[in-house]
Amino acid sequence: MTGKAKPKKHTAKELAAKLDAATTNRGGGKAGLSDRSGHDKGGHAKLECPLCKVTAPDIKSMQIHHDARHPKIPFDESKLNNLHASTVADTSKPKPGIRGSLKK
Ligand SMILES: [Zn+2]
Repeated sequence: MTGKAKPKKHTAKELAAKLDAATTNRGGGKAGLSDRSGHDKGGHAKLECPLCKVTAPDIKSMQIHHDARHPKIPFDESKLNNLHASTVADTSKPKPGIRGSLKK
């Protein structure tokens, strides 16, 4: 009666991992990567079309929009308005009066 023990195929942990993989949008591909390496992902509009101010959550959506709306203009990622970036730049501005202005 030994050596017949079957390993359990589906442990609770495995099932949880599978469920997680199936239900969590990890945003694969290049678009997802830039999204993840960016700032906190809240699913908010991140990029703004500089031509018509339409917003898109990621570069892929924006490219689709661009191809559809502005087919005659070459798609240029660097020309897009990154709404998240401008927010961050605003919060990280240098503090005024840091050079000992309190000393007199
Ligand atoms: Zn546009």
